[in-house]
Amino acid sequence: MSELRELYQEVILDHNRNPKNFRKMDVHSHHANGHNPLCGDKLELFLEIEDGTIRDISFVGSGCAISTSSASLMTQFLKGKTIIETQKYFEHFHDLVTGKLLNDDELDKLGKLAIFAGVQEFPARVKCASLSWHTLMNALGSATETAQTED
Ligand code: ZN
Repeated sequence: MSELRELYQEVILDHNRNPKNFRKMDVHSHHANGHNPLCGDKLELFLEIEDGTIRDISFVGSGCAISTSSASLMTQFLKGKTIIETQKYFEHFHDLVTGKLLNDDELDKLGKLAIFAGVQEFPARVKCASLSWHTLMNALGSATETAQTED
């Protein structure tokens, strides 16, 4: 178990050092800002959605290793997914980090995102891990105000 934990930590640190899709997108169809005042994490999310599918997704911002790596893994994960799938993944990810049980199939589908199950033991970290996802939901709802993490 502790080896597994170290592996997870390695993935998180790696994505924090070299975040994927870390850039502004001048041309985008959806956009939102996210802020987690408890930790000071801030991010800006850009999406290019066409025919109900995420063609491109990127982010910029500054935050702790958990929030940055979560945003990095999320953008990697969601590219090419449909909005309907994305809504479902948001719910599964939220369940994962808040400690609700997922079935094997749901866990399987989350792939690498499953490493964030570890944050459920640290309530303050749940907000760091879910900030990018809450911002995503705001962007999809085309709300312009800043996303605040909630319980
Ligand atoms: Zn944080």
